[in-house]
Amino acid sequence: MKQEQLVLQERPNGLPNKDTFQFKKVEVAEPAENEVLLKTLYVSVDPYMRGRMSDAPSYAEPFEAGAPLVGGNVSQVMKSNSDQFTSGDLVTGNLDFQEYNVVKADKVRKVRTNGLSPSNALSVLGMPSLTAYFGMMHIGEPKEGETVVVSGAAGAVGQVAGQLAKKAGARVVGIVGSEEKAKYITETLGYDAAVEYKKGNVSEQLKETCPDGIDVYYENVGGDISDAVWPLLNVFARVPVCGAISAYNLEEGEKDIGLRVQQFLIKSRVKMQGLLVGDFAEHYDEAYQVLEEAVSNGELKFEETIHDGFHAIPDAFLGLFSGENIGKQLVKVADAE
Ligand code: NDP
Repeated sequence: MKQEQLVLQERPNGLPNKDTFQFKKVEVAEPAENEVLLKTLYVSVDPYMRGRMSDAPSYAEPFEAGAPLVGGNVSQVMKSNSDQFTSGDLVTGNLDFQEYNVVKADKVRKVRTNGLSPSNALSVLGMPSLTAYFGMMHIGEPKEGETVVVSGAAGAVGQVAGQLAKKAGARVVGIVGSEEKAKYITETLGYDAAVEYKKGNVSEQLKETCPDGIDVYYENVGGDISDAVWPLLNVFARVPVCGAISAYNLEEGEKDIGLRVQQFLIKSRVKMQGLLVGDFAEHYDEAYQVLEEAVSNGELKFEETIHDGFHAIPDAFLGLFSGENIGKQLVKVADAE
């Protein structure tokens, strides 16, 4: 049987485009002993994948040109040669971007849907929420009455990070790219105020919405937006540095230059710490417990923006950089059987 596969055709310079991607038809393999045949239901497109399209050294191996892209995936088991799974089980893992995968059983884990959509395993009950949890709770450590600012606030990580800070009793301000997102974070998620950076003068908007300064800045975007934050940080503020999406598509030779932060950090004795979700693996159970409980009792709200069909993956990925998504950006590839 033939299937569609999405490969990295050429490494992008700057913003990826249609030449970055290529669809191929390849044969579906047969599962061997201790392997499972999986049918892809959902794939996750994530900003960090842009880094893997380049061959610059980083924490994740570069994708190989001509080889399939790899990312978060929810699949259904079609055939199992492992005693860990039976046909029909829903599983998740980091898998090749193709309609079917044959993998060793230990490459995936079962998804507990609890009546929710299996796509949630890639969003509110998956990697982005774990990232929000560890960045906010283990590094940001918001306290009752403090002011917390989250950039990329309506995205997959941001939508959860802000709600966790609210739960801890903080006043929370989100920075977003549109009026629709400003409404979403204030009216649906319960953020106290929104800054719309595309309207300009982020510095003034932040001063107005954070009259007592900023105690925690959850950094998702970098660039000019963050430069407006540094002067407003309070003494002993914390800055979990989760992402810097504004710099992911710089062209070769282009530099990410902004305000130099040292003096602000010294003056206010700020703790700024880079974050990689995988470093917190030993605490995943703790985070899942908090997140599952908050989702099941309706305390944690979330959105998913879902594109339809395997061929929609490149557009869904590019949509992350134009700010098209509210909540987690996903692609639905097939229905469960
Ligand atoms: P999002 O769902 O937030 O999607 C990306 C959003 O970023 C867009 O919707 C857009 O929202 C905003 N954006 C895009 N370009 C720019 C820009 N130039 N300037 C400002 N904002 C921009 O993605 P995730 O929640 O999955 O990821 C958020 C951040 O967290 C990313 O930087 C990602 O790399 C990082 N991350 C880090 C992890 C870690 O372990 N360290 C793990 C997971 C994610 P808007 O309309 O508001 O501009």
